Amino acid sequence: MPIATVNPATGETLETFEPLGHGGLELRLARAEAAYREYRTVGFEFRSELLRRAAGVFETEQEQLARTVTTEMGKPLAQARAEAAKCAKALRWYADHGAALIADELPREEDVADAGAAAALVRYRPLGAVLAVMPWNFPLWQVIRFAAPALMAGNVCLLKHASNVPRTALALEELFWRAGAPEGCFQTLLIESAAVEGVLRDRRVAAVTLTGSEGAGRSVAAVAGDALKKSVLELGGSDPFVVMPSADLQAAVHTAVRARTQNNGQSCIAAKRFIVHDDVYPWFAAAFAQGMRSLRVGDPFDPDTEIGPLATRQGRDDLVSLVTDALAHGATAETAGLHADGSSGQSAAGWYYPPTVLTGITPEMRIHHEEAFGPVATLYRVNSLDEALELANDSPFGLSSNVWTNDTAERDRCIRDLEAGGVFFNGMTASHPALPFGGVKRSGYGRELAGHGIREFCNATTVWVG
Ligand code: NAP
Repeated sequence: MPIATVNPATGETLETFEPLGHGGLELRLARAEAAYREYRTVGFEFRSELLRRAAGVFETEQEQLARTVTTEMGKPLAQARAEAAKCAKALRWYADHGAALIADELPREEDVADAGAAAALVRYRPLGAVLAVMPWNFPLWQVIRFAAPALMAGNVCLLKHASNVPRTALALEELFWRAGAPEGCFQTLLIESAAVEGVLRDRRVAAVTLTGSEGAGRSVAAVAGDALKKSVLELGGSDPFVVMPSADLQAAVHTAVRARTQNNGQSCIAAKRFIVHDDVYPWFAAAFAQGMRSLRVGDPFDPDTEIGPLATRQGRDDLVSLVTDALAHGATAETAGLHADGSSGQSAAGWYYPPTVLTGITPEMRIHHEEAFGPVATLYRVNSLDEALELANDSPFGLSSNVWTNDTAERDRCIRDLEAGGVFFNGMTASHPALPFGGVKRSGYGRELAGHGIREFCNATTVWVG
């Protein structure tokens, strides 16, 4: 993909960027190495202050950052503002709690004696320069949820952002610079994905974290494996949203619409497969379709807009192809306004896609197994919790899951049996700095956020004193 800012609401190319050449890349890698040598030795207080100043810049420049995000990837402006605010919150959270999360660990005295030591401890030391390969869908948040803990632990960051958000990527580098980050501690590399392998293999790069598609995860993990470097993968998801008869149905349907369509439906943790018990299916199905149908699709800068365009033409084409395949195999589109070509009919330009609910899904359809990255929901009817769990787990993904029930026995079953990195009851999946985030199966491995996230890129060093 060429590195360019293309307005997804119109398809117009606003700006193009030359990828870094050999010299530019070399300069940045050398800077990262030099920066790490110093930065690894500074205390937690210095790092906390840096994170707090970065949070401050997110707040004072929230509007400008949000406008850059909406211009480049099309999310409604209010959601872009909220994303910037969430970044400030995470930076402050790690500034406040990061040091305690990686404080020295002391084994029990009897274990120290049993190990033949006079004293022993575990110290969490940084690893070095960490390469972050990031996606465009939450172009500020995805970066900060990696960078805040990484910087707090004493690592330095190299950002390879998605090719369609270069202005956001450069704004992030500038933001850390203005927050007073030592030179080389946070650098943006404007490179294409083909250049990632060379950077990852470079001896000055210690580890990699990738948030993105399965394909990207597979190739980056293969290189990391070959180079024997630590990797964390946050990949796709097709989260189930199970509704049982004891649920508050009004709340469930309201949340279902939001969970499927926030960020124009392009969220890894969006609920994508709606699995509803027979007893409440007719009411839920009608209310859900109505809720999806009533969403306002349009210009993401218009304050009344609830759904903007999809971020890329390719993304729109992929969604059209998934829905076309489902309809060809007998699925039914329950919402009005779905055109055969996938367009909303509201705008000739831009990569809009209308909120869509599909029923009659069977395993022959691609959408049963693949991730729909846009505002398309699949709706299933089941007769029992057993059936719901079987269907929920019938996916190659295992990122998160949502269950609506007020029955504690059902809740326990779900916690025990759902194959996912999260189980959210009576609400929608959302990330929070204090809660670990990540998946199982083909949704990736490793965790971000909380103590788990900060320890991913640490060298847990055993100290033994005889
Ligand atoms: P993508 O195409 O995989 O791109 C993500 C990043 O990987 C971009 O920076 C991209 O660079 C790079 N990339 C792509 N192919 C690569 C390769 N072969 N080698 C090295 N780098 C490569 O994904 P996307 O379309 O931007 O994002 C959508 C996907 O991300 C969805 O599947 C979504 O579920 C997933 N996602 C997961 C999470 C999570 O936390 N689990 C969060 C958000 C999104 P270019 O742009 O230059 O190609």
